[in-house]
This record gives sequence, C-alpha cells and structure tokens, in this order.
Amino acid sequence: MAVQTVVTSTDSSAVDLGPAAALSCRECGHRVPLGPVFACEECFGPLEIAYDFSAYDTEELRKRIEAGPANIWRYAPLLPVPADVAEKPNLNPGWTKLVQADHLAGELGVEPGKLFVKDDSGNPTHSFKDRVVAQALEAARAFGFTTLSCSSTGNLAGAVGAAAARAGLRSCVFIPHDLEQGKVVMAAIYGGELVGIEGNYDDVNRFCSELIGDPAGEGWGFVNVNLRPYYAEGSKTLAYEICEQLGWRLPDQIVVPIASGSQLTKVDKGLQELIRLGLVEDRPYRIFGAQAKGCSPVSTAFKAGHDVVRPQKPDTIAKSLAIGNPADGPYVLDIARRTGGAVEDVTDEQVVEAIKLLARTEGIFAETAGGVTVGVTRKLIEDGVLDPSLTTVVLNTGDGLKTLDAVAGTGLTATIRPTLDSFREAGLA
Ligand SMILES: *Cc1c(COP(=O)(O)O)cnc(C)c1O
Repeated sequence: MAVQTVVTSTDSSAVDLGPAAALSCRECGHRVPLGPVFACEECFGPLEIAYDFSAYDTEELRKRIEAGPANIWRYAPLLPVPADVAEKPNLNPGWTKLVQADHLAGELGVEPGKLFVKDDSGNPTHSFKDRVVAQALEAARAFGFTTLSCSSTGNLAGAVGAAAARAGLRSCVFIPHDLEQGKVVMAAIYGGELVGIEGNYDDVNRFCSELIGDPAGEGWGFVNVNLRPYYAEGSKTLAYEICEQLGWRLPDQIVVPIASGSQLTKVDKGLQELIRLGLVEDRPYRIFGAQAKGCSPVSTAFKAGHDVVRPQKPDTIAKSLAIGNPADGPYVLDIARRTGGAVEDVTDEQVVEAIKLLARTEGIFAETAGGVTVGVTRKLIEDGVLDPSLTTVVLNTGDGLKTLDAVAGTGLTATIRPTLDSFREAGLA
C-alpha cells in the first residue's frame, strides 16, 4: 500500500478534533500530526489516534458522560471529534439497546441474567457502521474534503450515503457488484453515486487505494482508507456503551464479528481506555472473534497457532464479513490470545439457524453477521471454550431486513379461505 502524504486544504495544526493529539504508528510508535494519512512513513505500519486524556478527573468525566445525549456523542471527550460535534448535522447514531437475552440464554445453557445482545440494528442505517462513519465525517470536515467515499461490503456504503446526505456533502461509494438487494437499495437511496465493481471486496479496496493516489480522487475522504484512523475509533463506542449499560462494569466475555478486524481491535481499545480512566474496575475480560467458515482467514490462523493471516477467497452468505485479506487480522489474533479468548467460525447453515434462533427467542432479526456471532457463541459454549456462568455480550451488528435472501423459505404457515372451517382444517385452532 502506498504511503499517503498529507494533502489538506487546511493547516493541520489548526485542526480541532477534541482530545485527539496525534497519529501514532501501531508498529513502531512513530508520531505524526493529525491529517488524512493512514500508514507510517517510517515502517508502513497502520496509524491510530493517540489522545491526551491527562486533564480528566474520573468522577467529573463520568458525570459529564451520563449527562450527555443518548447517542455516541455522550463519549465525545474520548473521541477524535470537536466538542461541539453534537450540534452539527449528522445522524447521531449509537446508544443502542443492550438486551438481556434470557430466552436465548436458556437455549444455549447460559445462566439467566448473564447473556446480553448488543443490538446495533437500531442505528440510523441499521448497522454498526453509522458509528464509524460519524467519526470519519468529522475528520472529513476538519480536513476540508468535499466528497465522502468508501470501499464497502454493503453496510458501509449505506452509512456513508446517509451521513453525506445529512451533512450536505457529495458521496461516491464502491461495492462488489453482486451484493444483496437490500444493501444495494440502502446504499443508493440517499442519492449519492453508487458504483459496483466487478470483483470481491478485496478488489474494491485495492481499487480505492489506487484512486486515492490519483488526481481523480483528489478532495475525496475515503472513510475506511485515508480517514481510517478516525473511522476506526467509532467502534470504541460499542465498548463504552456496553460497560455503561452494565452499570459501569466490564463484561466477562464479548463475542465480536470480524470483517477487517477493526471493530474487534477497537472494542478492546475502548475497554482498555475505560480501565485506564478508572471508569470501570480493572478485571480480566475475554474477547472472542466470529467469522463465517466461507471467509475465515483469522480463525484459521488462530486455530493453527499462526501469527500471520493467510488471505482467502470469500464464499459465504455473510457478505458483510466477507473480507478475505483482513487488515487488522494479526491484531485480532494478539487480542484473542492476550485476553484468553478465541476466534471461531460457523458454516452458512449454522448462520441461518442462529438468525432464526435469535429471532424466535428474543424478537431480534439479525443480518447474517449477527447469525455469525450467535452461531459462534453457541459453538464456543458447546465446545467448553466460552464460560456459560459468566456475563457475556454478543454483538448483533446489522438488520435482517437487509439480508432477506439468507432466510428465503421463511414465510406463510398456511394459506386458508377466510372461514373458520378452513382455519380448523389447517390445524391451527
Ligand atoms: C463492517 C461490519 C462488521 C465489522 O467490520 P470490521 O471491518 O471487522 O470492523 C461487522 N458487522 C457488520 C454487519 C458490518 O457491516
């Protein structure tokens, strides 16, 4: 990947992104000023946001968060956004429900009161991606970009289209040409340009990296490429919300889906920050990664004990997770191993079963990615890897209405004439 030099219409020293102090390399620690860059100029490692939280008093910060709006901006003091972010036009995602899932717990053999589903289908464009796009939008504004773009497995395209529409920016997004109809419509409806690429997500991503280095992409903020350090921080809000909703307590176990692996690494970063800030008690927690078998490069590496993630060619109904060459794969392996977690995968059949199980036990209709996390949770419990006596949070990151094909065949119980006789004949009385 080419190193992007800082090209910005504003002086980066004047950029106000709240507590964000600099970009720092995750490999060598080299620091550079905030800008639309994503790779280290020294070692090509990925850059992430470094903060200055030194001025915060724990109790004051807790009160400030609790008094904040019922969306991700209650955590603005911990995000790369200006203090007045909530007043600007954006979609205000987050503060989604943490559902105590006792019926599902019963089916999975988890103790009552111990299993929770964090249901991110309740976000404005019905996936967790609104969280990350909201951060990237602030970075795009700060750096003076006029077009918002991305490479997407579907949900991100919709989230970018909607956020750009709300902010009054142009959007032009790129997806594999063969995605689910629900994802395509959701990405197109907000009026931006939607381009299907003949290839899989990894081809789309490579194309976008080329476009960034070309004059044709000038002035474009690619939320998950040149704005990736900012974008990625949005996933921390999942960790913040889960802990606050549990009464400022760490869960013991979290099951997180893996596409690029960004979400999982930032959920961990969010938990670490809460511990460091004193907002939660420092106790061990375990992070589990979930993939579909048809695209399981990280779980394959985990099980083989490898540190390197070998790319795969995806073939699964869980298209939102179908990244064959996950950028954050090695970091996911580190986190799963450091926290005593694991990375596991389930077949497409198990994904569909899990979607139906969650719907019939808790009234939550998950997209395929949610089928992956619930299916993996079930498998990890059966295999004795996940402890059913501990507090466990399973992420549902998207809405089943976008992946209806996955549950094709689900439909009418019976078709009857409008008479009581007909109703009785159908055996429904
Ligand atoms: C994008 C996405 C994820 C996770 O993506 P990462 O690249 O691993 O951060 C999970 N679930 C859904 C539904 C998604 O769209």
